[in-house]
Amino acid sequence: MKVLVAVKRVVDYNVKVRVKSDNTAVDIANVKMSMNPFDEIAIEEAVRLKEKGIATEIIAVSCGVTQCQETLRTAMAIGADRAILVETTVELQPLAVAKLLKAVMDKEQPGLVILGKQAIDDDCNQTGQMLAALADLPQVTCASKIEVVDGKGNITREIDGGSETLNVTLPAVMTADLRLNEPRYVTLPNIMKAKKKPMEVIKAEDLGVDLTPRIKTLKVSEPPKRSAGIKVPDVATLVDKLKNEAKVI
Ligand code: AMP
Repeated sequence: MKVLVAVKRVVDYNVKVRVKSDNTAVDIANVKMSMNPFDEIAIEEAVRLKEKGIATEIIAVSCGVTQCQETLRTAMAIGADRAILVETTVELQPLAVAKLLKAVMDKEQPGLVILGKQAIDDDCNQTGQMLAALADLPQVTCASKIEVVDGKGNITREIDGGSETLNVTLPAVMTADLRLNEPRYVTLPNIMKAKKKPMEVIKAEDLGVDLTPRIKTLKVSEPPKRSAGIKVPDVATLVDKLKNEAKVI
């Protein structure tokens, strides 16, 4: 079974992002970029499926600028066998990414597609769901455990107040939650090996997909500064402040 994993290049989760002075976007000039953490979990899960003899080939796919090749090399250092970059400089929104991934799926015919549950830059949590709808395949979002038995997936997902296990026929689309696994560290020998693994570059325009953004960003601004907290001597003062200063009760 081929497993296709979508990986996005995002601002590293340790970076404190800054808004551009003209309030049009987050400033990504000279900022450390990395693989979206949920996508690392998605790749790790695919590698574990391969180690169990369930997956036969892992293909990492990224959509975006040339530098996404670095992210794909990391995916291959974790264990993906090959990579596809769908290259474009156009700003991509989840629907456009889902359409591009659908075009790649049509070509590769994977048995399972794994995405992250959300990208930590736009926090959309939409691409996996849109891809499943476009491909008309079963979907399981926020997966915390994956078992594949007799060509079917038993996938446990995180829900409010607990978890549920869904039984899906494959091929299917699933998105990885935090508790699915803990990704392995990338070792130097594997980084070296990844340099030799095949990377295909496809121009997004050649896939005949409409990439037009459907959402227009009007303004990007910093969240309001939080004022420092205070200690109150007793409950009566707390109630008084909540009533008369914060006016929340
Ligand atoms: P989002 O819907 O934007 O929160 O993203 C959810 C998931 O879709 C991510 O964790 C990735 O697996 C995938 N994804 C989103 N954008 C891209 C992209 N440009 N290239 C590859 N995968 C992406």
